Parts: sequence; C-alpha cells; structure tokens
Amino acid sequence: MTDDRDTGLPSLREVIAQHGLDAKKSLGQNFLLDLNLTGRIARAAGPLKGITVVEVGPGPGGLTRALLAEGAEHVVAVERDKRCLPALEDISAAYPGRLTIIEGDALETDMRSLVAGRAKIVANLPYNIATPLLIGWLQTEPWPPWYESLTLMFQKEVAERIVAPPGGKSYGRLGVLAQWRTRPRMLFDIDRRAFTPPPAITSTVVELVPLPKPAAPADPRCLELVVASAFGQRRKMLRAALKTLVPDPLPLLQSAGIDPTTRAEQLSVAQFCLLAEAYRMRPRD
Ligand code: SAM
Repeated sequence: MTDDRDTGLPSLREVIAQHGLDAKKSLGQNFLLDLNLTGRIARAAGPLKGITVVEVGPGPGGLTRALLAEGAEHVVAVERDKRCLPALEDISAAYPGRLTIIEGDALETDMRSLVAGRAKIVANLPYNIATPLLIGWLQTEPWPPWYESLTLMFQKEVAERIVAPPGGKSYGRLGVLAQWRTRPRMLFDIDRRAFTPPPAITSTVVELVPLPKPAAPADPRCLELVVASAFGQRRKMLRAALKTLVPDPLPLLQSAGIDPTTRAEQLSVAQFCLLAEAYRMRPRD
C-alpha cells in the first residue's frame, strides 16, 4: 500500500489550491488526486527497487509520490508546465536525492541520456502527445531498448488499438508497431470520475514489455512507412493503398508473398515485416 504520510506532504487537493494549478486542456491536464489509485499504477510497474523511473508529465505529483513511496531508487520527471515545479520541488525535498525534475517538452527530451542503469517508464500521459511519445519509444535504437518496461495510461480506445489482433477495426499502425517489438497488455481501467477534471472517456493502464528480439526482422523506419501507407486507406486493397508509398505496389507485394487483393487489417505483424523488408530492398534508379 502506498503511504507517503510520513513525508509531511499536503494532500494533492491542497497542493493544487496552494499553487493555483487549475487544469489546462491544452496541456492534457487531468489530474489523479487519489494516492491509492496512483499507488496501484506504481505497483503495476512491478518492483521498483534499484530502478530509475522516467515519468512524463508529473503535474502536481500524485504518481510521482506513489513511485517514490513504492521504492523507486530515483524518479526523473519531465514536466512542461512551469506552474507545477514548486509543488514538485516540495516532493523532492521530502525524498532527498531521489527526484530529478526536468522542465521541458517530453517530445524534445532525450530521456535515455537522463538515466544510468536500470530504467522503467511510467506515466499518466497527456492525451494529446501520448501516441507520438509511444511511437518514439517503440522506434528506439538499438533494440532491446534502454528501458525495461512501459507502464502508461491511455484513453481506452487507444489502449484497445495497441493490443488489437489482426482482423478488426482497432488493428492499425499502433498495434503493429507495438506488437512488433513488445508484449503489450491492458492492465486495468480507470473511471473518468477519478480525474480532476474528468475527461470525456475511460482510461486504461497498459504495460508494454520489450521483446528481446522483435517478432520478425524489419527496419523500423521502413516498417513505419509501410504500415502508415497500408492503413492510410484501410478499406482499399493493398495493391491500391500502397500507391502512396510506391507508384507500382505489385512487385513489392509479390516479393513479400502477399496477395495484392488483401486489405491492411488482414496482414499479420510478420507479414508487415516482410513487406517492410521488400520495401527496403526495392530496386531504385
Ligand atoms: N501525472 C499527473 C497525474 O497523474 O495527476 C498529471 C497527468 S496529466 C494527464 C498530464 C501532464 O503532462 C500534465 O501535468 C501536463 O502539464 C504534462 N504535459 C503536457 N504536455 C507535456 C509535454 N509536452 N511534455 C511534458 N509534460 C507535458
């Protein structure tokens, strides 16, 4: 059970009132103020002893406090909203030497350079940048990456896309890229009413554990291009959809052994990898 009562830190409601942290929609701010809930998310990230946790968007610090109380050796928290920094400094004072606060945009931050040793990424992500952040972590080179796991909160609909198997309408770019290099799983939902202010929809905590080796060999950049093109017009057959990638998709499909009348959502992750390899090896003038 998370317990930071001995730290003398005020309740999160008091923190918000004291520092005037009224939530800004433009920064995707929906705060979790229940320390039991943030404790549950921190515990979902597994044992944190000896681990540096990178947290994106600590806000008033509910999850940050839980990660420290659950025994993270160090938390590196990247926050864009200057107004949150004094509240985070108070947490840092309560956990001396264990919290590093980085003021900045997580999309522009080289997170790997902030950690030495074992690391995990845990975050209640700002919804507006959740997908580009995840894609960036999945495209990390070399693989296996510098982090041991990602424990992240997404809108439920995005979580469903991350774990979706081929064949359905949730299956797309996110699912292929996530399942290519990690084992993703939905852990639990969090009701919208748990947030201040409540967002429109339910959220889901997702765990992604890197596979030691990707599901099939492929160049990450080529895979991303092929997948984006194939799902760009998902209702079309691949022989037509892939025209945004190459003028004549037939030779590519042929060398990957894929029926040109197939649609993107019918391809397995391994077939997308074959297509990405065929694209990488394509003859060029
Ligand atoms: N972790 C807190 C919690 O669980 O209550 C806050 C989560 S809130 C959904 C998202 C947080 O991300 C906000 O504190 C927001 O200011 C921050 N944020 C938004 N855009 C960001 C960016 N580009 N880089 C870093 N932090 C960002």
